[in-house]
Amino acid sequence: MHRRTFLGLVATSAASMAFAQESSPSSVFLRATEIADFESAKNRLNQVSRHVGFGNFNIINFDLVLHYARNVSKIGAFTPSELALLEKLFYDATEPYGFFGQRTCESLTATIVEREVYKVPRSGHYLFQGEALHAFERLQKDVGPTLILTSGVRSVAKQMSLFLDKISACEGNISLAAKSIAPPGHSYHSIGDFDVGKQGFGYLNFTEEFAKTEEFLKLQELPYVRTRYVPGNPDGVWFEPWHIQIIKPMQT
Ligand SMILES: [Zn+2]
Repeated sequence: MHRRTFLGLVATSAASMAFAQESSPSSVFLRATEIADFESAKNRLNQVSRHVGFGNFNIINFDLVLHYARNVSKIGAFTPSELALLEKLFYDATEPYGFFGQRTCESLTATIVEREVYKVPRSGHYLFQGEALHAFERLQKDVGPTLILTSGVRSVAKQMSLFLDKISACEGNISLAAKSIAPPGHSYHSIGDFDVGKQGFGYLNFTEEFAKTEEFLKLQELPYVRTRYVPGNPDGVWFEPWHIQIIKPMQT
């Protein structure tokens, strides 16, 4: 996309976002009967993350999460009704709550093969060996060393945890949560996409402020990457200037 066209879309998006942030009457919420299981499952996932460490949690598979929960007494095993809720959030169709992205992972218990990923030093995050890692290394040359990796490969459990935390921040509004975090099983982070930021920019890397940085503007000039979630994207996700999709040679 031409840079000027893109920046025009960014300007349009600010107005549409202000409107979209209002909770729509068709929003899907957690049911009252699900809230207790939701809270306890969310807490167990966060406790497992603390137990194994933030970096390891990025690539942990669901069976291992269950194992740690069962065997670490202060966490405690997931109950059948908690698991049923997590399965529902993973396997149910997402269109009813306004998310139209494709499914990227078929199984709740899918495993990331450790030798297929690379832990990027000082980031706490992983990239898939091959295309994704090469693209990131090329970006650091073309954009400069101030471009950092802020999120890479995410397992189903990691995406589930992020999604539950977001639903919680959205006071149970699943539709609103899915505007900024892909539901588990639908994240392109499980197939090679990654997030970048500007060194020292902190949480602003995950806001539209990132679109004003020199790093972002340089990214727009590169032929081998694009911003996945541009304003008005078909998936129904808000503008994410930090989220990188690799352009395959065939697509250029
Ligand atoms: Zn992302």
